[in-house]
Amino acid sequence: MSMSNEDICEELYRHLSEFLDREMTDDLQAKFDAHLVACVSCRSLCRTMKGTVDMVHDLGGTAVPCDCLARLRSRVLRGAGPSGS
Ligand SMILES: [Zn+2]
Repeated sequence: MSMSNEDICEELYRHLSEFLDREMTDDLQAKFDAHLVACVSCRSLCRTMKGTVDMVHDLGGTAVPCDCLARLRSRVLRGAGPSGS
């Protein structure tokens, strides 16, 4: 309870790809889910990130701005199965 809202925002940015992939612990996932309900900027960030994945997919995977997006894109292209076969 010592964390401010901004601290959670920053933490979410740092773990965004894991969060969108649902690869984090249940505790963190629940914390960020709850934060999204309360935080408009993180909510729109997540929506933008998901939209970016779709857009990259539509473009056939040409302009990928960062590793994190590349990882998200490869998961989307693989049909979002569990990572690490
Ligand atoms: Zn936030």
